[in-house]
Amino acid sequence: MKVLVINCGSSSLKYQLFNMENETVLAKGLIERIGLEGSMLKHQPAGKDKVEIMVEVPNHKVAVKLMLDALEHEEYGVIKDTSEISAVGHRVAHGGDRFSNSVKIDDNVMNELKKCIQLAPLHNPPNIWGIEAVREILPDVPMVAVFDTAFHQTIPEYAYIYGIPYELYEKYSVRRYGFHGTSHRYVSMRAAKVLNRPLETLKLVTLHLGNGSSISAVEGGKSVENSMGFTPLEGLTMGTRCGSIDPYIPLFIMEKEGVPLEKINDYLNKKCGVLGISGVSSDFRDIEQAAEEGNRRAKLALEVFAYQAKKYIGAYAAAMNGLDAIVFTGGIGENSSTVRRMICQGMEYFGIKIDEDKNKIRGQEADISADDARTKVLVIPTNEELMIARDTVALI
Ligand code: AMP
Repeated sequence: MKVLVINCGSSSLKYQLFNMENETVLAKGLIERIGLEGSMLKHQPAGKDKVEIMVEVPNHKVAVKLMLDALEHEEYGVIKDTSEISAVGHRVAHGGDRFSNSVKIDDNVMNELKKCIQLAPLHNPPNIWGIEAVREILPDVPMVAVFDTAFHQTIPEYAYIYGIPYELYEKYSVRRYGFHGTSHRYVSMRAAKVLNRPLETLKLVTLHLGNGSSISAVEGGKSVENSMGFTPLEGLTMGTRCGSIDPYIPLFIMEKEGVPLEKINDYLNKKCGVLGISGVSSDFRDIEQAAEEGNRRAKLALEVFAYQAKKYIGAYAAAMNGLDAIVFTGGIGENSSTVRRMICQGMEYFGIKIDEDKNKIRGQEADISADDARTKVLVIPTNEELMIARDTVALI
């Protein structure tokens, strides 16, 4: 069975076609700059050369057509025609509190998805455009929506309610949702395999550290906490996002820096984080290099990031009354031995101690804890696309 996984952003469409018999990727690709000048398709068929084509892509429907053309192309395609695609899985950012699991898409689900737009006005609309485009072009192919928020629907009420009037939760659904759920779910399941223990018995802290970063407490396979909140702006200081700050600060910035209301969200999402602290870059590779070269603010940005992550680990160990393992994933978690070392330093109280040699790995699954560590430290590359493909198969 072949399953196509699609992740639509406002100006991009990422895809992977899986052969689910052996869970291998037949082809993957990216269409960039949809609706903008200079749009292009990058298509990578397994075992063949990568193809890059500059082509005008005015909207997501054209992008979907382009992707399907690439998949069935004579030269660089991997299927004869689209009838080989048994199902399509879509990544959807926000499922609100309506979706606690992945769901097969029908008219009813589409209506519910539209109701979630107010919770993720930037992310949900392009997800919906992608679904609508595929529905138009491949009307008979079953489709599934997999939500970034669904895994976190098990977070208890006392952990998702904010200290604001309860009516705001009732009227506008203002509460913690948590994000990166598909990734936290995937690495939790893998962690159980690596540790050779049933997931139901484990207390894990999973750290998805990338451009956007979130940390989860996963108890018995269920998410009980996530550092992101009502939006993906809360939590850790990220590449360009401020993370958790004193709620008065945005008001102060608006007044002192003359940032108008309609720009403050952009400011907090794009000008802050480690980019704002370091003044160097949002990319941890650049920051680490600058820090090594003696840039004080780059070093400070790394220290802030690691210190905050450390505090979440402690808080979540308290929330679960125990900790069996912590799991690093995401671009930074998988690749940066420096950040992993900084986070794990001085955590012996929690039984966390890494082996410096084992920590040298990049982008591969490994147990990097010291032999005498009570709490395991794992590195597990995430695979959200595979998780979406698996959910899709399960639901159709
Ligand atoms: P993601 O959003 O999960 O794709 O992660 C992207 C981020 O991972 C980049 O912005 C980098 O900051 C970080 N990253 C990738 N490779 C490395 C590396 N070798 N060392 C440090 N950070 C890295």
